[in-house]
Amino acid sequence: MIAHLINTDVGGRGILRVYLDYRRRCFDFLTRVASKFTENPSRVLIVTGFPIPPAQVPETDGPPGALALALAVEKLGGRADILTYQEVRDALADFWDSFVERPRLSRYSLIIAVETPGRSADGMYYSMSGLEVKREAFDGVVLEARRLGIPTIGIGDGGNEAGMGKIRELVIRYIPHGEKIASVVETDELITSAVSNWGAYGLIAEASMLTGENLLGGFDEVEIVEALAEAGVVDGVTKRVEVSVDGIGMEVHSKLLLLLKSLLNHALG
Ligand code: MG
Ligand code: MG
Repeated sequence: MIAHLINTDVGGRGILRVYLDYRRRCFDFLTRVASKFTENPSRVLIVTGFPIPPAQVPETDGPPGALALALAVEKLGGRADILTYQEVRDALADFWDSFVERPRLSRYSLIIAVETPGRSADGMYYSMSGLEVKREAFDGVVLEARRLGIPTIGIGDGGNEAGMGKIRELVIRYIPHGEKIASVVETDELITSAVSNWGAYGLIAEASMLTGENLLGGFDEVEIVEALAEAGVVDGVTKRVEVSVDGIGMEVHSKLLLLLKSLLNHALG
């Protein structure tokens, strides 16, 4: 149910077929991700931020999800650090105070990559339209974590993000420019979603079901996207500075969150 909701392809960018095939192959993927999350909350590194070419300014998808995950980690009794771009950091500073620039990975119990570029087969990074992403990327953190045996989770919505290497052949089959943009960077567990923020919220909702504690309560996305826009962060689809995510107005995002919260209220009482 939650997996279906977060993969509702409102923006029509092709993730639905990727999701359906992935779901067929791994029916309980969301439960698996949520288990990994609730079992390893002690020290979590959350990586987010996707620079949009040609201006190479980060987008509004990713950071709200990363913040919601960080707050959920705290509710589980753990600590979270966020690794991201300066503009995002500036925007989130009113909501979160634990950021890192060069994380020492061996300290972490779990790494989560939310909407951040993952290198493609040619070693470059691409937007969904096939333009080159030319800013520093953080996917090396995921590769190094896997070498160290630290659990990793990826969340993406287009196939070009760190983690989507796990289902690279589905990205190539269903996403326009898939062969070029598909990331080769895998995570242990992966969430596909229509908007990556929704993937993060879905993970938190599923983790709430597992723990019996509402980990999503009180979270308001609109004020966070407003702060991002104020810091110059752009909508990744329109490429303009505006209070929206992936070309979709906040009224839709708010309703998706309301649906998830309603499910939790119903299930948890
Ligand atoms: Mg994306
Ligand atoms: Mg997106």
